[in-house]
Amino acid sequence: MHEDTCGVCFGNLEELNGAIELPCSCKVPYCQRCWDRTLATSLSNVGLPRCPSCREVIRVDYDASEGRLVFSRVADATVRFENWLETLDDILRQHSVQRCDEGFKFIARTQSGKLTKLFVMFAFQETWAKAKGSLWPLLEGKRPSPSGDWFVLNHLGEEVHYPREPAEEEFPVQVRYPKLVEHPMTELDANSFPLTLTFKEYVLNLEMPRGGEVSGGSVSQTFEVDEGRLLVREDVGMARKWKDQTTGVCLHPGDRILEVNGLQDVELIWEQLGCEELLKVRLQQQGSIFKTDVYNAQDDMRNRLQRQAKPRQQELLRRREHCEGAQSCVCGGELELLPLRQRVSLLVDQHGFLEYAGKRFSVDDLIAMQAVTCDLCHQHIQEEKLWTCQNGANTILHAQSYDVCVQCFNTFSESAGSEKRASLVIGE
Ligand SMILES: [Zn+2]
Ligand SMILES: [Zn+2]
Ligand SMILES: [Zn+2]
Ligand SMILES: [Zn+2]
Repeated sequence: MHEDTCGVCFGNLEELNGAIELPCSCKVPYCQRCWDRTLATSLSNVGLPRCPSCREVIRVDYDASEGRLVFSRVADATVRFENWLETLDDILRQHSVQRCDEGFKFIARTQSGKLTKLFVMFAFQETWAKAKGSLWPLLEGKRPSPSGDWFVLNHLGEEVHYPREPAEEEFPVQVRYPKLVEHPMTELDANSFPLTLTFKEYVLNLEMPRGGEVSGGSVSQTFEVDEGRLLVREDVGMARKWKDQTTGVCLHPGDRILEVNGLQDVELIWEQLGCEELLKVRLQQQGSIFKTDVYNAQDDMRNRLQRQAKPRQQELLRRREHCEGAQSCVCGGELELLPLRQRVSLLVDQHGFLEYAGKRFSVDDLIAMQAVTCDLCHQHIQEEKLWTCQNGANTILHAQSYDVCVQCFNTFSESAGSEKRASLVIGE
C-alpha cells in the first residue's frame, strides 16, 4: 500500500484533500469519503461507528462553520447507576430530568424537550445484576401483555419475554410502562420511541488553551449555563481546542461539566475555567456512545448530527441559484426530487419488505405509516414528492437517509432573495 493513496479506494490522497487525521492510533490512510462510508457501514451493521482496524468507537460531530464532519476519540466512561427503582427520583433530579407530575412516577423530559411518561433503562450485565434484586420480584411470574404494567425491550426494540434474563448482547434493555402513556403503545414506532437515560461520566485533565485572546473569550465561547447546568457549547471548533494531552480526548459538545478541580458549584467552576491553567474536569456524557438504533428517532447521535448540520443545510438551500442545477446536501451529495413511493421503495429489501423489530413492512405499510420524515422540520412527509439525498446511507452524517419535504425546500430556497442579507454567514 502506498502512502499517497487511500487504503480503501486507492485514490490519490492529494487530489482527495489529503488523508484524514484518524482519532484512533491506526495508521491506515483514508480519504474523507472512505472513512465516512466505513463508519456509516459500521453503524448500520453493529449499531456503533467503529474503526474497522482497532474497533475503537469514534465520536462524530458536524462542524457547521467548516461544513465538514469532525471525528474524535471518546473517553472511557463509567456508568453511574445505583438501585434505580428505589432512588429513581434522586437519579432523575441529579441528571436534570424533571418530574412533572406527582401522579406519574416515571414522567421525564426527552432531549427534544417533550414530556414522556416512560422510563428507559440503559444498563449492562453488572448493573442489571444490581437492579435485579429490586426488579426481579416484580417481574417474576408476570407475563407482560399489552395491557400489563410494563414490558421490557431489548436493544432491537424486541420484547423480552419473562421469566428470562436478557442476554448480554441484548443490552441496553428498556423497561417501558405502557399504562403511564397517554396513548399506550404496544408496537414500536420510531417517533414515539421514549426517553433514553444514560449516566456516563469521564474525567479529562485539560490545559487551558493558551493565548491572550483565546483564554478570556474561550471560556464563554466553549461553555454555557443552561438551567443551572454547565454545558459544553455546540461550537465543535472551540470544544476541540480543549484536549487532554495524555489521552487525546477533547471536550464534546453537549456534555455536562459536573466538577472542576474538586468544585461542583457552577459559579466557582466558571472562575476556575477562567483562571486556572490545569483543570481536572469530570464530565457527564450526553446521550449514548454505546449500541444505538439508527431507526430510532430519539437516537442521540442522529439527533445531534441533524441539529449540528441543520443551519448549514438551510444556508445551502438559500444559496440555491436560480437555475435547474443540482441542489447539494449538507453531506456533499446531491438532493434529488423523488416521488414518495419511489423513495419509500429504497427502504425495503429485494423481497419488498423492511424487517424491523421482528415485523415486516411493505412499501404500502410504510407509506400508510408515514415512515419518511423531513430532516429539517421533522414532520412526516405526506406530499407526493420529496427531496432525498442520493448519498443515501453512505455517510454517517445521515446513516439512514436524508430527506427534505417540498415545503421546507421551497421555504428556504425561495426566501433566498429576500433574506439574503439576514442569512447566516458560513464560511466555505
Ligand atoms: Zn478513499
Ligand atoms: Zn483505529
Ligand atoms: Zn446527503
Ligand atoms: Zn420539512
